[in-house]
Amino acid sequence: GRRSLSSVPGVRERTLIAIKPDGVQRRLVGQIIQRFEQRGFKLVGLKMLQVSDDLLSQHYGQLRTKPFYPGLLQYMTSGPVVAMVWEGYKVIESSRMMVGHTNPAEAQPGTVRGDFSIHVSRNVVHASDSVEGAQREIQLWFKGKELLNWECCDHASTFGL
Ligand code: GDP
Ligand code: MG
Repeated sequence: GRRSLSSVPGVRERTLIAIKPDGVQRRLVGQIIQRFEQRGFKLVGLKMLQVSDDLLSQHYGQLRTKPFYPGLLQYMTSGPVVAMVWEGYKVIESSRMMVGHTNPAEAQPGTVRGDFSIHVSRNVVHASDSVEGAQREIQLWFKGKELLNWECCDHASTFGL
């Protein structure tokens, strides 16, 4: 039988995607957003910010003991970041595939990292890696009011204005 798309499990899934300072500086913001729009995901939050050490230490808390951690903080605070929340069916898993392997040298062509970067220390973009991770990161980066629910202009409920 027929049922509305919004009742399909996973269709309201949300993930945090962040264009890192190298992505902004290299003017890749438009191309990265285009890939998510083209795929069919819905943009429900967007802002540009200079990330604080406090936010980063919470965001990357699990990497605190890694040798590259100080360099990672330096990288992520080297300029503004564009943070976004994208919504859609299995967006977390799909966006990890769209972003590609953490190490650009191992990322497939066709992925953001595989198309736009060469070294793990400058890998252009962040994507949440799990349902729990996405929830945690979205709460960390966005206030509830900064996330918007909206319907497409061809949605039946917007007809007959
Ligand atoms: P991601 O989920 O694919 O972003 O990868 P991780 O969660 O494992 O690591 C978070 C971020 O830390 C990566 O995106 C890189 O920016 C950085 N990073 C991870 N591994 C390395 C490394 O071996 N060297 C350096 N310089 N940075 C790393
Ligand atoms: Mg990660």
